[in-house]
Amino acid sequence: MASQTDRANTIGFIGLGAMGNHMLHNLVTRYTPPRDGGQTAYALFDVNEAAVDSVIKHHSIETPEVPLVKCSSPHDVAKHASIIISMVPTGKHWRDVYVGGDKSVLSALRTLSDTERSATLCMDESTIEQSVSKEVALELRSAGADLLDAPVSGGVVGAENGTLAIMVGGDKASFDRSVPVLQSMARKVTHCGDLGAGLAAKIANNLLLGITMLGLSEAMLLGKRLGVDPQVLADIINTSTGRCWSSEINHPVPEVKVGELSPPAHRGYRGGFVTKLAHKDLALAVKAAEHTGVPLSVGRCVEETYRPLAASKEFADRDFSVVYEALDALGSSAGNAKL
Ligand code: NAD
Repeated sequence: MASQTDRANTIGFIGLGAMGNHMLHNLVTRYTPPRDGGQTAYALFDVNEAAVDSVIKHHSIETPEVPLVKCSSPHDVAKHASIIISMVPTGKHWRDVYVGGDKSVLSALRTLSDTERSATLCMDESTIEQSVSKEVALELRSAGADLLDAPVSGGVVGAENGTLAIMVGGDKASFDRSVPVLQSMARKVTHCGDLGAGLAAKIANNLLLGITMLGLSEAMLLGKRLGVDPQVLADIINTSTGRCWSSEINHPVPEVKVGELSPPAHRGYRGGFVTKLAHKDLALAVKAAEHTGVPLSVGRCVEETYRPLAASKEFADRDFSVVYEALDALGSSAGNAKL
């Protein structure tokens, strides 16, 4: 086990997938501790051991002076590190990490001293159910630690470039402590309010993102079938009232070019924000709306449209703008066809 001083200078990272591996890279190369506390070390865990091995191999060449420790469980990470970041797919994985039995963060907290527990700050950057996040945060608080919900926006490109927008919910003093860490991965870090407010902002944003992507795809397809050239229509939308992030940055129509960047539609919808994750976020919004009595008529429709795509081998792992291809494939004489 690491000594108490080492633990104070160690950051744990759990979940080194598409987003997490880039976020860790920016953390290692950009983070400087607020006070001169010496060299920061990193304690890493992923259920996929190969992901950890690959990160350690990469950094042994690029940043050989930075200690990276391979851990055997979230419990092991919490023994080594006073700050813990997690970036896992869903609420189920998230529960496993924090409260899932004797390998969890909570089980480690119970073996630590009062001082070590109160020094422990967890930052979860995954997009999961707000209710689960709040419930587990309160459990960690009752064990003497704290947790912030800190979901991100900006996709894999934002993770790679360190330009994520991070939306944080939780205690203000914990937020202040988290800022130097989160800033190393972000262009903007915002305190949205108390526990769950970061996830509230993220889920609301991604609901709108799904709505605008599907709306744009339908508008483009309708315009094309009515006889307007897709590039002409795209340019008109981008100088008119229909303009949005999907129309300006992540255009779903393969033959359209907007701006300098090449969106996933130009490469068979590979890379980007995959359909199964986009659908997961829409489903989180629908569930949250049920709990809060928000009608969500458009959002529900969008979630239902994405649901079969998220379950299909052909579409699930491609960028969510692939919904345009799916609509187009329905053919021009399909009447009231639905996905
Ligand atoms: P991913 O599937 O590529 O990576 C998740 C990683 O977590 C994997 O390496 C997996 O092995 C690991 N993991 C799963 N269960 C674990 C556990 N119990 N303990 C430790 N590690 C575990 O997913 P991702 O694209 O990196 O997304 C992670 C989160 O970020 C999701 O909640 C997603 O919605 C959110 N997000 C993703 C994007 C994006 O564009 N990919 C953008 C914004 C937010």
